[in-house]
Amino acid sequence: MDNPYFDQALELLRRFYGYRSFRPAQEPIINSLLSGKDTVAIMPTGAGKSICFQIPAMIFPGLTLVISPLISLMKDQVDALAEQGIPATYINSTLSLAESDARLNAIAAGQYKLVYVAPERLDTSYFQYILEHQPISMVAVDEAHCLSQWGHDFRPSYRQIAPFIAGLPHRPLVAAFTATATPEVKDDIIKLLNLSDPQIHITGFDRPNLYFEVRRGEDKKKFIVSYVKNHPDESGIIYAATRKEVDKVYELLKKKKLAVGRYHAGLTEKQRTKAQDDFLYDNVQVIVATNAFGMGIDKSNVRYVIHYNMPKNIEAYYQEAGRAGRDGEPGTCILLFSPQDPMTQKYLIDVSVEDPQRKAHNLGRLQKMVDYCHTPECLRHFIIHYFGDNTAPETCGNCGNCKAGLERVDVTIDAQKVFSCIYRMRERFGLTLVAQVLKGSNDKRVKQFHFEELSTYGLMKERSLADIKLLIQRFIATDYLALTESQYPVLTLQPSAYAVLKGQEKVYQAVPKPEQEKEPAAPELFDYLRALRKEIAARDHIPPYVVFSDATLRDMCRVQPETLDEMLSVKGIGELKLEKYGEAFLECIREHR
Ligand code: ADP
Ligand code: ZN
Repeated sequence: MDNPYFDQALELLRRFYGYRSFRPAQEPIINSLLSGKDTVAIMPTGAGKSICFQIPAMIFPGLTLVISPLISLMKDQVDALAEQGIPATYINSTLSLAESDARLNAIAAGQYKLVYVAPERLDTSYFQYILEHQPISMVAVDEAHCLSQWGHDFRPSYRQIAPFIAGLPHRPLVAAFTATATPEVKDDIIKLLNLSDPQIHITGFDRPNLYFEVRRGEDKKKFIVSYVKNHPDESGIIYAATRKEVDKVYELLKKKKLAVGRYHAGLTEKQRTKAQDDFLYDNVQVIVATNAFGMGIDKSNVRYVIHYNMPKNIEAYYQEAGRAGRDGEPGTCILLFSPQDPMTQKYLIDVSVEDPQRKAHNLGRLQKMVDYCHTPECLRHFIIHYFGDNTAPETCGNCGNCKAGLERVDVTIDAQKVFSCIYRMRERFGLTLVAQVLKGSNDKRVKQFHFEELSTYGLMKERSLADIKLLIQRFIATDYLALTESQYPVLTLQPSAYAVLKGQEKVYQAVPKPEQEKEPAAPELFDYLRALRKEIAARDHIPPYVVFSDATLRDMCRVQPETLDEMLSVKGIGELKLEKYGEAFLECIREHR
């Protein structure tokens, strides 16, 4: 690398983090920052963005302010850094006046390189004392999509960042990080942070270690109970759409005597903190939560994320599901779909969004989510394609649809029946009515429009209404049909449907069949190491994954080091951690080999 600081960066990575090399996605971002360029980094959860600003922060002469939206998590993030020997602290409203004064003094005295700040705290007069003694080298904006109204988590306080930077005596380097990639969010970030000629790094959206699956028509309760029972040693998150649903699932699992926590905005602050800590500290393996839970959750050993309900759009889904497998070990992401889900989400959009343009935009994104739940194609391909990356392979081999086998069925005749029915109904009606006509239903709306006189009436009478609807959903998901973005979406034919109607093209679909649960392999040594990790974590009052990640424990099982030197070659063990925990883990390995 031509950057003179790059070797230093690599050295810090080895010493403090215990990793041999940067990931391919991290390198250009670190280089861009080290050469003093404003930078926007869009990387999926788990790609390792923290290191991208932490290491340059250690190299820069002045301070780095890290703007982070979640006050409740700052402490954990900073504790984790302290655990690695990296000088960091945080400032937010949970500190008393005396504490926060003491910290400002320590910062001004140069004791810290990284300072995590809540956006609400950004006020130059507050930082005046620091600024007189310590220049700010970089402002790193975490979860930068919070700036944008188009993002799924707009936070007005983020709008204070740009004026704050403008008020500083020297303009620092500005770096923005997010996992949300849509072009409109990216443009907003650049504009609203006033970035000057920024370098933009977009990491591929693929998370190869995650397995994706959609289950339709599943008995959700039964599925959840058996899944949690079958994975007793794994951390998992179960997301539900509303507080009521969260409570329901939580009570259900409790009744089955499973140790679970719950998290939603209806609980008290204290209850929420406890639920979050219990989960982070591995006191409970499973947490049932609304989407209020998880942003900034750095717990790296979440092994599965199950969506009890379909979320509002793919951005939200990918971010939530992406909380599985951040350590690079396999993670499972299952979405349980029911026909009620889109209605719930539509209702939520209805009551929460006023502006008609925004409403239509959100309904459009919701439809893409519904499409995901019905596509017979590769789920990973679908997601990556959604984020604007057209280079993903057609099949991944590691999603429910790919695993179900790609045996393709010719459904041209079905397609022609459906498309011509829509054509005869003049593309003016919704999914249900079209399905009813094909079914030959006696519903009064069918009668009202005299649809029983159409030649397509009852063409699919041998099938169930649900089946016909699913078939239509799949044609939407594969772009033969579209639904208008409106209150009462209308089914319309896409250009490709006309080719099928004219008999010029055939239509194929793969019909996924659900895959058998895989038995988790339980290597014994791993269990002993994990028990030791939990013991140490409890003693030191830190979450277990902060001691070592699952990936580090796995690597330890593989390497089975016999000396401290050999231990240092294990992924994720830096010098400080070696000193703190090396002996104890060596002992454990010796005992159980
Ligand atoms: P993000 O914030 O992008 O979701 P994190 O910064 O939490 O991701 O990193 C995810 C995981 O990847 C962490 O366990 C981290 O220690 C690990 N990691 C980061 N960089 C590297 C690297 N260069 N080599 C190996 N593991 C890494
Ligand atoms: Zn696939």
